[in-house]
Amino acid sequence: MDPTKITLDENELPKQWYNIQADLPTPLDPPLNPGTKEPITPDDLSAIFPMSLIKQEMSTDRWIKIPEEVRDIYTLWRPSPLYRALRLERALKTPAKIYYKWEGVSPPGSHKPNTAIPQTYYNAKAGIERITTETGAGQWGSALSFATRLFDLECTVYMVRISYDQKPYRRVMMETWGGEVFPSPSNMTECGRKLLIEMPDTTGSLGMAISEAVEDAATHDNANYALGSVLNHVMLHQTVIGLEMQKQFEVAETTPDVMFGCVGGGSNFAGAVFPYIGEAMRGKGDGDCPRIVSCEPASCPTLTKGVFAYDFGDTAQMTPLLKMYTLGHDYVPPGIHAGGLRYHGNSPLLSKLTHDGYMEAVSYHQTEVFKSALTFARSEGFLLAPETAHCVHAVIEEALRCKQTGEEKVLFFCGSGHGDFDLAAYDDYLSGTMTDPGDPTDAVKESISKLPEV
Ligand SMILES: *Cc1c(COP(=O)(O)O)cnc(C)c1O
Repeated sequence: MDPTKITLDENELPKQWYNIQADLPTPLDPPLNPGTKEPITPDDLSAIFPMSLIKQEMSTDRWIKIPEEVRDIYTLWRPSPLYRALRLERALKTPAKIYYKWEGVSPPGSHKPNTAIPQTYYNAKAGIERITTETGAGQWGSALSFATRLFDLECTVYMVRISYDQKPYRRVMMETWGGEVFPSPSNMTECGRKLLIEMPDTTGSLGMAISEAVEDAATHDNANYALGSVLNHVMLHQTVIGLEMQKQFEVAETTPDVMFGCVGGGSNFAGAVFPYIGEAMRGKGDGDCPRIVSCEPASCPTLTKGVFAYDFGDTAQMTPLLKMYTLGHDYVPPGIHAGGLRYHGNSPLLSKLTHDGYMEAVSYHQTEVFKSALTFARSEGFLLAPETAHCVHAVIEEALRCKQTGEEKVLFFCGSGHGDFDLAAYDDYLSGTMTDPGDPTDAVKESISKLPEV
């Protein structure tokens, strides 16, 4: 009998994170100070981040030690299982082998605590008492509320208005862990009040919520800000996923040919694939790398329709300028059921690797994505987060292609989280009321025309 679940012992939990900055053939373009357009200095960031995280952000050390306190908490749910999706393979009648890493086992239900825990740990060590953040679908706010509770810090979450209205149970989850949640834009910050006057009926966006959380942290000495994706140190912390996987694929005596992941800011997929890309960059196995495919929503097509350019991370233009794929910092995507993928920008690291040809990208509409989520739930059981369902759709399409050609490819996707709080979205799909937003090309063109000059 083929094993369906490959687990590791607690003592095989990685002791170090992998930093792909050490292996890049050419360095990242530096983040720029939005005022001077000069590369930012660690001091520029110290109003909102602890120095330990700023160092990780800029580090080119290949391996960075995971603190024992963090490893200790990771073992609540890590190492996470690697599944062979045998029942999905049978349902599709494909000769392809399908594997997925399942991050839905964490208490908040996604990969996000992999970075929320260390970010909170370093802030606690620096004497910070409160952490502010934004959340889209509510997964990141949940993860940070959970993490701050474990270290006895306070947590303030600015939640994108449409998610606040659509997903009340995520708010309850955050409040259960002690987080304080405001719908964004809110009256709590100057930029929030300004946005509410300009656009009283806005559904909000991650870009707006980031502006609020950054302003809150920058104007309070005892508070810092935490970002759930995009930044280099977040990608770093998430590599615990890929490092575990490499051991698990060894146990399975195979290795992936094609790797799929959903990409919002890029962190779960970067975590899964950076250790593989790094090995290829260092020349292991003659430098062979699996094919790596990012999956995103057609209505927020950052990698497939955006430009690779310097842009702000937020709407109010408070963050440093990052060189990344972007749809423009004031792009407001339609209110689709994939909150975690509704971000205008992307990780500078993942963007560069895409631009340099190590990774490719595809985009899908939500109705086809949910059709695949149902196929998955009805074979493998788990209800996937709408975000995760994007890459499952890609895997299913590839597995069906393999059926045509008879290829026994090994396919992988990163199971970034469960959809137990996304039942309203499943309900929409099941009842036939889910629709696909129109073509975003014009809106994208419009917002891209307003990119800052560098
Ligand atoms: C937040 C989230 C994502 C998107 O964020 P990345 O940084 O791209 O990983 C994807 N899936 C789930 C379940 C999420 O919560």
